[in-house]
Amino acid sequence: MLDSLRAITQEVNAADSLEAAMKIIVNRTRLTMSTQMCSIYLRNEHEEFVLRATEGLNATAVNQVKVTREVGLIGYVARRGEPINLENAREHPQYRYFPETGEERFSSFLGVPIVHQREVLGVLAVQQGERRRFDDAEEAFLVTLCAQLSGLIAHTEAIHSADEIDNKSIDVRFKGVAGSPGVSIGTAVVFSPEADLDSVPYQKCTDTEGELTFFFSSLIAARNDIKALGSKLKDRLSSEEQGLFDAYLAMLDDTSLAREVTEDIKQGVVAPYAWSRVILNHAQTFASMHDPYLRERAADVRDLGRRVLAYLQNSPNREKDYPDNTVLLGDELTASVLGEIPKDKLVGLVSVKGSGNSHIAILARAMGIPTVMGVVDLPFTQLEGHSVVVDGYRGNIYFNPSEEMIREFKILIQEDYEITRHYETLRHLPCETLDNHRVPLWVNTGLMADILRSIERGAEGVGLYRTEVPFLLRDRFPTEEDQRKIYREHLETFAPHTVTMRTLDVGGDKSLSYFPIEEANPFLGWRGIRVTLDHPEIFLAQVRAMMKASEGLNNLRIMLPMVSHTSELEMAQTLIHRAHAELLEEGGDIELPPIGVMIEVPAAVYQAKELAARADFLSVGSNDLTQYLLAVDRNNPRVADLYNSYHPAVLQALQYVVKAAHSQGTPVSICGELAGDPGAAILLMAMGYDVLSMNSTNLPRVKSVIRAITLDQAERLLTSVMKLADATIINQYVERTIRRLGVKDRPESLDTFSLSKEGCETS
Ligand code: PEP
Ligand code: MG
Repeated sequence: MLDSLRAITQEVNAADSLEAAMKIIVNRTRLTMSTQMCSIYLRNEHEEFVLRATEGLNATAVNQVKVTREVGLIGYVARRGEPINLENAREHPQYRYFPETGEERFSSFLGVPIVHQREVLGVLAVQQGERRRFDDAEEAFLVTLCAQLSGLIAHTEAIHSADEIDNKSIDVRFKGVAGSPGVSIGTAVVFSPEADLDSVPYQKCTDTEGELTFFFSSLIAARNDIKALGSKLKDRLSSEEQGLFDAYLAMLDDTSLAREVTEDIKQGVVAPYAWSRVILNHAQTFASMHDPYLRERAADVRDLGRRVLAYLQNSPNREKDYPDNTVLLGDELTASVLGEIPKDKLVGLVSVKGSGNSHIAILARAMGIPTVMGVVDLPFTQLEGHSVVVDGYRGNIYFNPSEEMIREFKILIQEDYEITRHYETLRHLPCETLDNHRVPLWVNTGLMADILRSIERGAEGVGLYRTEVPFLLRDRFPTEEDQRKIYREHLETFAPHTVTMRTLDVGGDKSLSYFPIEEANPFLGWRGIRVTLDHPEIFLAQVRAMMKASEGLNNLRIMLPMVSHTSELEMAQTLIHRAHAELLEEGGDIELPPIGVMIEVPAAVYQAKELAARADFLSVGSNDLTQYLLAVDRNNPRVADLYNSYHPAVLQALQYVVKAAHSQGTPVSICGELAGDPGAAILLMAMGYDVLSMNSTNLPRVKSVIRAITLDQAERLLTSVMKLADATIINQYVERTIRRLGVKDRPESLDTFSLSKEGCETS
């Protein structure tokens, strides 16, 4: 069963259109289950279930037979959302005869809903002439198949609609997760990491002859390269490995591979795209083979494909040219891409993978770049050069926007601009409540650009400097001196205000290209302090650089990420004291900085008192704390709805940490994104947090709500909220309170934006 399932899903995966995919499904399912009929119905935009493919019913009925949830057995399966297994379909009260299908020959019926993200997308049904119930194994097979196919069908359907973007569609919408608020209008540019077969953008070529010559010269170069490598390693390779080189050379000599690519180039497609498609198709063919040995050859085909692609992409005349108002689309955008695009050209980010609290989204918020994450159905490689609107408030993107849509979005952009102007007037006003309770607002930084923005927005210190950001933007570890210079700039710019530097926090979704960490479960693995304590040489160089940089300024604090054991704090303190002593011996005149701990995992919450007793300060990282308390991957758009820092369990933990820290006389701040949420900021102030640290974009928003409320009001709000049991209700309750305060922190037309104009949805 597993083999049949795998074979069907792989074939469906490789289909180049929804039509082809559905034909494969009905054909293979009918053969595997030995039934006389198999049909698939898919929901259309009018909520009707349309016969889209069949084997066993009249082919002329395809796209003609449509039922609502109220009609017939197919409608019944869709309405119930569960399998219906009948010995004799005609005896069932819901049975309805459609003469155009010719289905009177059949008696038994098994219909299974195709469910994707809680919605019934369609129904897969099999029938037989013989009167019998389908047995449990058959039912289980169809249920499993539908569960596996639902995501593929949703995805293929979306891609299919996107194919038409070029021809006629306007305002084509894709849904994702809000990453960074704001709206931008620009031109789509595909981010394609080097030699990544899955990310090569579709582009047309005008000079076919030139493109063909370029293709063949790249092929020859790759061939020579592989041949040279093969002979260099000859003595060290086993005969099996040597065979692999020979197989690669044979594949490159295979004229059919080159012929397929040549044909595509002659159709007007650029060589890298044509090559990547041909290779992916061949790899897919191998992957769907029954024989395990042949299946594994898919990896070899991809490997060869990557080698040639590297040549095809590395030509000097193929330097990427970023247009003004670039909206970068990619499979998995990470912080390192920010270093590649001229800052003044980048207006939006769209990532297929990742979610609202992925690090790239956090950086985008700090930089004020509208961003949409987790657009899982986006056929991004097909969209190079299209005009696009990014709605980072609601997590939507629109391709080929109509004039009317652009007009509406321009109104939003104007409102946004006015809100920003209003914020500028707050810059020199203190952050204090109506009854004069002061709340220090600090910023989270990482990029150099953050520093100026933060100062412009009236930041009173840095609560979190993500030191991994400069590490991510390089192709090797920065030296101690490299680091000292970067840190000095930060410390000097903010002096005399405090700058809290976090030691290197890699792992999870932050991986350094030059220090890859491959793990099945990276968020539960080698992250943060776990990595740096295992590599004292990296840790020592970093803390030495920090302390050297603080000489004469003395505004540094050092903070440790991902601490889950008191011993980790103690070991880190020992190393920092050692580095400090060395610096004094070397003649430095440097004060030992305060050393603090981030509270990011449940274990640290419950040990907050012990940690507070040993540390100089605590700071809650609510991004990770939410992920670990709720067991929701902050990077996974599928569970984005469950990631909610207003969850009562998170709020209880936050309150617990303040009490624990203060019981030891230790100050406690919060530096997760929650601190920059105006509603949450009020609750955190009422809980007693000593400092709120946030991205600079949100700082004025938070300041304006705090200036509009009294501490007493905030405390009453907190008391009410802590009695509520549901995150969504808490969200709404806090939101209403803010509205009542009359604070305007997002464009009003967002709420009135006409849904009817939201274009054709594709997911
Ligand atoms: C956090 O987890 O809340 C935090 C501030 O750290 P990061 O987002 O960099 O993981
Ligand atoms: Mg964290």
